[in-house]
Amino acid sequence: MMKMRKTMKLVWAVLLMFGLMVTVVACGNNTAEQENGAAEETVYKVGTEPTFQPFEYKDLETDEIVGFDIDLIKAIAEEGGFKVEIQSLGFDALIPAVQSGTIDIVASGMTIDEERSKQVDFTQPYINAGLALAVAKSNETIKSEEDLEGATVAVQIGTTGAMKANELKEQGIVEKVLTYDTIDVLMAELTKGTVDAVINDAAVTESFIKSGHDDIKIVGEQMNTEQYGFAVAKGNTELLQRLNDGLQKVMASGKYEQLLAKYDLPANARP
Ligand code: GLN
Repeated sequence: MMKMRKTMKLVWAVLLMFGLMVTVVACGNNTAEQENGAAEETVYKVGTEPTFQPFEYKDLETDEIVGFDIDLIKAIAEEGGFKVEIQSLGFDALIPAVQSGTIDIVASGMTIDEERSKQVDFTQPYINAGLALAVAKSNETIKSEEDLEGATVAVQIGTTGAMKANELKEQGIVEKVLTYDTIDVLMAELTKGTVDAVINDAAVTESFIKSGHDDIKIVGEQMNTEQYGFAVAKGNTELLQRLNDGLQKVMASGKYEQLLAKYDLPANARP
């Protein structure tokens, strides 16, 4: 009789322990599931103007938006356990869109500058950039900024290139500034001869020339130095922190250099 009770006690103890183990494992699973679920739900909308090769442009075969900025923001998202959804917008629509909450992030080769920093918050810089002057290959008169006297210059709307061209106009050097929505159009105007010169980000003009448009050339020195940052709505410190943390990790892991190489950008493009 005694033996029987002892055995029963043992059975109960084992059952109890088993039950506890099952509960612990189940709870553990639950937490993991909840965490994964929450991460999957965080999808940030990223706005970009995709005529800016190699930073953002349409892959002609797949019609998908690709480029250095796109890969970088995706790598940052992967580090941070969130997702991004890329959406095409006009360059001048990007800041208003992030301000109104239509998008969460601007990833569009956007230069960090004082005026924009009053409207949006920028991450740490992720690319060193600068403006270049381009003319038709056959142009023998415009060799640098100083030769822009009386010239018609094409720029993209809302860009630092547009600001620079307007500055040169105010100084009485450039005669006329023509503003276009996209880079492909303003480059076409230069090839057609509608305009004398283009002021645009150096790496983008270089990439355009390399992609089979050798009827255009860059002249003179790089006109200035700039740095690109991702932009978020003013005061969105949580997202800004997530992007900066991810950027730091991607820059430390070797992935950043891999992306520079993939898009044929020089090592000194790294800030
Ligand atoms: N870097 C330039 C600017 O911020 C041009 C950007 C662009 O055309 N995508 O104004």
